[in-house]
Amino acid sequence: MSLRTLPGVLLRRNYGTVQSTSPSAAAIASRIPTALREATAATAPRTNWTREEIQQIYETPLNQLTYAAAAVHRRFHDPSAIQMCTLMNIKTGGCSEDCSYCAQSSRYQTGLKATKMSPVDEVLTAARTAKANGSTRFCMGAAWRDMRGRKTSLKNIKAMVSGVRGMGMEVCVTLGMIDEAQAKELKDAGLTAYNHNLDTSREFYPEIITTRSYDERLKTLANVRDAGINVCSGGILGLGEKDEDRVGLIYTMSGLEKHPESFPVNALVPIPGTPLGERKMISFDKILRTVATARVVMPATIVRLAAGRISLSEEQQVACFMAGANAVFTGEKMLTTDCNGWDEDRAMFEKWGFYPMKSFEGEHVKEEAKVQEVEGTAQAAVSA
Ligand code: SF4
Repeated sequence: MSLRTLPGVLLRRNYGTVQSTSPSAAAIASRIPTALREATAATAPRTNWTREEIQQIYETPLNQLTYAAAAVHRRFHDPSAIQMCTLMNIKTGGCSEDCSYCAQSSRYQTGLKATKMSPVDEVLTAARTAKANGSTRFCMGAAWRDMRGRKTSLKNIKAMVSGVRGMGMEVCVTLGMIDEAQAKELKDAGLTAYNHNLDTSREFYPEIITTRSYDERLKTLANVRDAGINVCSGGILGLGEKDEDRVGLIYTMSGLEKHPESFPVNALVPIPGTPLGERKMISFDKILRTVATARVVMPATIVRLAAGRISLSEEQQVACFMAGANAVFTGEKMLTTDCNGWDEDRAMFEKWGFYPMKSFEGEHVKEEAKVQEVEGTAQAAVSA
């Protein structure tokens, strides 16, 4: 029974001599938007969300939003399984782009030393170490604008992709912008997923990056999708954006022809020397709200806690897992920033009842939710 339909007398309770009515509870129930109620009954992802619907979901009282997100999560995923990924920088620094948050842009004095691309053997050794420690997905990042004129690099990266895939791991790369032919070559080498973040909303994006456009980023995502590679694309929170920009990011993602299989949620790690080097960490409730909204709006997507996780307490991370996050980056480093390590993550998983997701377990967007396993749970979430 919904709070809306409860008889008024049931909304009043007596505690000794103090009579307490519960207008706030009723008021909160009335603030659960129809879009959220409908989302909790969904059995398949939808790509026709309006921005207003997503905004309403994002603004739902956090307690109700996370509860609904948890219910949606259970419909589409095993809520105890969390994917462990390791991200290695295979070519550090010296990038021509001007992303305001990035230590690797050659435009800022961050003290980072640029390097050449790592040899294939070295990368495969790192992937073996990651696998031995429990990671099932290995991601490789190169700091450059695009792949134009990088034939030798592409050849070596394809060898890395094939080698990692041969270990039975999922393999992802993030190499800047790529065209159709490059995407196809990577697909043929065995690539599972390609990461290319949109970072923020279309409106706020020009405040952060000027050297490539939002549409250029979307074009790379389309090339990746057309090649049959899974899409990994997310954002960075704490760039100075507003709530409506976090909503705008999810809105763009949710309106793609198919939702990205992976949505990384990064919290800005301010790097001294970059334009955003002095920014304060975004408040946790905004991170949680973004995770929960992404889970509701893109129910089959893997929601990935990425950069900045090391700044969250264990309890904050668990709150995110309970609200729908189901992947982490783990290992010694995440590109140039510190990362929670394997031992720490294993201990956290054991303590809270999580376990590592198997390779390829979460890769394919499920067309239908596992409704029978949790029948009624999601609806109950918004009617309790
Ligand atoms: S985020 Fe990527 S493209 Fe932007 S400056 Fe850093 S390495 Fe270059």
